[in-house]
Amino acid sequence: MYDLIIIGAGPAGLTAAIYAGRAKLDTLLIAGKTPGGQIYLTYQVENYPGFPDGVTGPELVERMVSQVKRFGAEIILEEATKVDFTSEPYKVYVKDKVFEAYSVIIATGSRNRLLGLESESRLMGRGVFVCATCDAALYEELRVVAVGGGDSALQEALDITKFASEVIIVHRRDTFSAQRYLIEEVENNPKITTMMHHTVEEVLGEDFVTGVRVRNLDTGETHDLQTDGVLIAIGWLPNTELFRSQLELTDQGYITADGVLTSKPGVFVAGDLNDTVYRQLATACGSGCKAALEAERYLGHR
Ligand SMILES: Cc1cc2nc3c(=O)[nH]c(=O)nc-3n(C[C@H](O)[C@H](O)[C@H](O)COP(=O)(O)OP(=O)(O)OC[C@H]3O[C@@H](n4cnc5c(N)ncnc54)[C@H](O)[C@@H]3O)c2cc1C
Repeated sequence: MYDLIIIGAGPAGLTAAIYAGRAKLDTLLIAGKTPGGQIYLTYQVENYPGFPDGVTGPELVERMVSQVKRFGAEIILEEATKVDFTSEPYKVYVKDKVFEAYSVIIATGSRNRLLGLESESRLMGRGVFVCATCDAALYEELRVVAVGGGDSALQEALDITKFASEVIIVHRRDTFSAQRYLIEEVENNPKITTMMHHTVEEVLGEDFVTGVRVRNLDTGETHDLQTDGVLIAIGWLPNTELFRSQLELTDQGYITADGVLTSKPGVFVAGDLNDTVYRQLATACGSGCKAALEAERYLGHR
């Protein structure tokens, strides 16, 4: 029996574990196979406070994990496979093992919807990127292909033009699904060109991106485009499947919540899992902190 179980050890779950451990809550962190979440995949983090020269994702994760250990949370490197929130204490299963606690923080993150190409995953963080706020500055005076046609694809393409010399938006439909003002900004931006009714078939490059192969969906023809970076901005999928039968979800699959509070007393959400707007390391840590403070408050009042 624990005071608190945290599911997911990305920046949100790790921050929650630091706060919970420091508050002397008996805490179990179910970390999945590798702690660190998305930031572990990041070659260089340039925008996290306290690291003026940047820090690699793995180094930052290692520091966070040792901070968690210092304050005493127990970590298991396995995935939660089932939860039962029907009555307290709540139950979290890892295969046939069951763990119980009066409070649970869900910090399982979200994953970017990807094109599903082998070359895309091989070159992720090596020219393929999914967050313009995080990585646009790495493409100063370079060319970037942005894939997608919704609000975030267009907003991120615009953000990249602050650094890149040229941005080519590749979109599979004839029209963008983004808001009108974003479409107008894109149309009026001299650094942006658009390639409608095209898809990216392959990301080219051995160690780093050198180009993309695009297919014209009208003619079926393919051709190669030289580029230094490829932004994939075709949406997000929150990792909430595990909770579908236990908590109310929105149509987009997010857990219905008010900030970090879910409708279930003592069950909290933190990080990108329930963030439809910011999805940053610093915001994930911030909500992990809030969820742990709420859990501490909840346990104190039980
Ligand atoms: C390539 C890349 C580069 C980025 N660069 C930056 C950057 O430079 N600066 C910045 O601010 N942000 C950056 N981001 C965004 C940042 O990484 C995320 O905002 C942040 O990691 C979100 O943290 P999180 O803890 O909410 O979720 P995640 O990082 O997604 O972590 C969730 C964790 O939960 C685990 N999990 C899922 N299901 C289970 C389960 N059933 N049981 C146990 N564990 C589970 C997952 O495996 C994962 O480890 C980047 C993202 C990517 C993908």
